[in-house]
Amino acid sequence: MIDFEFEPQVVERLQIYRNVAEQMMRPISREYDEREHEKPWQFLETMWAASNLSGEGQPGSRKQSGGGNEARNLYTIATTEELTWGDAGLFLALPNAGLGGAAVAAAGTPEQKQRFLAPFREGKPKWGAMAITEPGCGSDSAAIATTAARDGDQWVINGTKIFCTSGAMAADHPGGFIVVWATVDKSAGRAGIKSFVVPHGTSGMTVARVENKLGIRASDTAMIVFDNCRVPLDHILGKPEVNRERGFKDVMATFDATRPIVAAMAIGVGRAALDFVRDFLRDHKVSVRYGLSPHRLTAVERDFIEMEMNLKVARLLTWRAAWMLDAGRHNSLEASMAKAKAGLAVTQITQKAVEMLGPLGYSRQFLVEKWMRDAKINDIFEGTQQINLLIIARRILGYSSRELN
Ligand SMILES: Cc1cc2nc3c(=O)[nH]c(=O)nc-3n(C[C@H](O)[C@H](O)[C@H](O)COP(=O)(O)OP(=O)(O)OC[C@H]3O[C@@H](n4cnc5c(N)ncnc54)[C@H](O)[C@@H]3O)c2cc1C
Repeated sequence: MIDFEFEPQVVERLQIYRNVAEQMMRPISREYDEREHEKPWQFLETMWAASNLSGEGQPGSRKQSGGGNEARNLYTIATTEELTWGDAGLFLALPNAGLGGAAVAAAGTPEQKQRFLAPFREGKPKWGAMAITEPGCGSDSAAIATTAARDGDQWVINGTKIFCTSGAMAADHPGGFIVVWATVDKSAGRAGIKSFVVPHGTSGMTVARVENKLGIRASDTAMIVFDNCRVPLDHILGKPEVNRERGFKDVMATFDATRPIVAAMAIGVGRAALDFVRDFLRDHKVSVRYGLSPHRLTAVERDFIEMEMNLKVARLLTWRAAWMLDAGRHNSLEASMAKAKAGLAVTQITQKAVEMLGPLGYSRQFLVEKWMRDAKINDIFEGTQQINLLIIARRILGYSSRELN
């Protein structure tokens, strides 16, 4: 039976994350938005030490476990919502295996999971990242031009990756790694695409640029060049054989876990804006009446109730997608539904919040304008709104990607 109830000790831990968001993230939120490319080291080191001490892994990482491993994904999205309510950029900047870890967890062997992820529970802060997007390919991930050629007991990787979240932190700090998507056989199309773990310090991997961005400015987004970059044979995730029947289902499996996490990020930012508007209305003695038919409500009441409704719908879809993954069910459709709904909801909610507050919403005096800037990325990375709608349509209507694109 579907069940979103957390055990009491999990509820207690979520309260701790809520406190972290309120007392540690919010106070430095504006500062690290304005000081893009600078890192809040004290905060990052405190978070790393605290999560390793508690033995549960870094927040948002796939190592995290709540009331037992069976609720791991659900717990991860619940903590993600709490922390992104604090600050989405700082959340993304946290040291953890991140999207790279999700890729290892989804496509790696048990031995690879142990080898690449265990270091994330000890020592100094570490980062993982995932590099799919290239100058000529993003949404159309089948068009990947980066190559991985076998040379004796190594893979030789060549290509350029752009917009890699935490790419610079992963490449620059010992123990970090970047999971790189590359083709081992261009003639095989999608089936030739495999993912490779490239550890920090591998020669031939260079951070070429770090982007200046609209939002999530505390998080680094890097361009990374791979020039005859060599990794051992056992750094390929999944099977090295090209299986034309199976396509690139192994590498795509990563999205089943990561799309609900991005949806949860969206919900955290949306909830921040909604809470702010609620407090603002209360302080200005504007009450929202529930249970009336829409034509009897004021415009503000209608807008506010619609914002709340959209957030709840997005949250339920997201929890369902994560719950299905925990239950060992195939959730690609539900993961895309959650991502598409939450990405759209957060852009609408934060924009409406700015609108309802007028000049105060637009001013840098409050964080509402920042949340509007932080919101949009959730509708872009891990598959844009349009791409997720395409996936949903294909799955519901039974079309292949060749038939509906
Ligand atoms: C801050 C940030 C962080 C990122 N982090 C990462 C990361 O860690 N790793 C990584 O690999 N990538 C990352 N990305 C890249 C991101 O995932 C891609 O930008 C995204 O997938 C879109 O791909 P694209 O850039 O090729 O855009 P395009 O595919 O060129 O899309 C442009 C527009 O066209 C639309 N479009 C494209 N194809 C279709 C279609 N068939 N039908 C309808 N509309 C379509 C898109 O929806 C979009 O609106 C990040 C990007 C940003 C901005």
